[in-house]
Amino acid sequence: MKRFTYEGLPGRVVFGAGALATLPEEAKRLGTRALVLCSPEQKTLGQQAARLLGECAIGIFDRAVMHVPVETAEAACDLAQTLSADLCVAIGGGSTTGLGKAIALRNGLPILAVPTTYAGSEMTPIWGLTEGGVKRTGRDPRVLPRTTLYDPQLTLSLPTGLSGTSGVNAIAHCVEGLYSETANPLVSLMAEEGIRALGRSLPQVVRQPDDLEARSDALYGAWLGGVVLGSVGMALHHKLCHTLGGTFNLPHAETHTIVLPHALAYNASSVPEAASRVARALNAKDAVRGLVDLIAAIGAPTALKDIGMPADGVERAVELATTNPYYNPAPLEKGALRRLLRNAYEGRPPEPYLQ
Ligand code: NAD
Repeated sequence: MKRFTYEGLPGRVVFGAGALATLPEEAKRLGTRALVLCSPEQKTLGQQAARLLGECAIGIFDRAVMHVPVETAEAACDLAQTLSADLCVAIGGGSTTGLGKAIALRNGLPILAVPTTYAGSEMTPIWGLTEGGVKRTGRDPRVLPRTTLYDPQLTLSLPTGLSGTSGVNAIAHCVEGLYSETANPLVSLMAEEGIRALGRSLPQVVRQPDDLEARSDALYGAWLGGVVLGSVGMALHHKLCHTLGGTFNLPHAETHTIVLPHALAYNASSVPEAASRVARALNAKDAVRGLVDLIAAIGAPTALKDIGMPADGVERAVELATTNPYYNPAPLEKGALRRLLRNAYEGRPPEPYLQ
């Protein structure tokens, strides 16, 4: 066994159908004046949370949007300060949790997260803020939510398209966790189990979106994916998605879904053990094939050109993805990355890029 360092992240998790009902008692453990955060589309859910909280809810900020623009973060921080909030309740997807993290970063408020997608942000100390079209990210233990309520009932309304791609986003955290520079045996167990849970549940979630058992299984996998993302470093796949999302404003979960089989095909021969664990978790003979088949089964997009990437974007992305050095188990070669991005742009199948 290789030498490793393991550092557990603190946090309380309440998991299960109906977990939202515990919101008042869980909030009481953290504060007495809660600002509820949600997106404009999930305003009704934000209001439901505020009703449940009763007197403890002192306001709702319903303007959470993708990538946390700095202006939105400042408006939310100012409201929290004006209302003397001592707690943020973030109910929604990664964008809403991200807004809570921006408040925690500036005002130091604890976060109680109620995730409604599979993004996993609620399990990480990673924050992101976008200013002038540029997204900055960082790690700070203050932004890690103190408590998370995982209620699969809240995911029943997640549209099938986003359910599938958000689930593959969670698988991506697990896949890169298995070959992370800072991988360790405990987190790898969670990564493999996360892929297994999502691999078996996502096709059923897409077939029958109101199947609560499948939704629970997917949310369980998403939780594990979030822990993996928060615990160990990522590599090429996350770097590419961050670059593509930030530069061309591409949708987060779809971008992850399109790029993941290509990124794994790039790295697989350098990390045979990780690749065989991915294959085992997906009950497939080959890891890349297993992912391609899963993505086909959920009917997700496979071409970056179909989700808004411009035709001249490949070359820019190659340059950006090779500018600042970062860890990857396989060497970063411009020619191979260009082939990878061209295939992902056109929607062609992945190939063993480094052979
Ligand atoms: P999102 O939060 O942007 O949500 C997408 C849309 O789906 C929104 O309109 C939202 O209101 C709606 N929605 C969410 N849950 C729903 C539900 N159950 N029913 C109906 N509609 C629902 O999307 P996301 O993929 O969850 O999050 C993406 C963002 O999170 C990106 O900005 C990404 O960078 C960030 N993220 C951060 C981390 C981290 O660790 N910091 C991890 C993962 C993702």
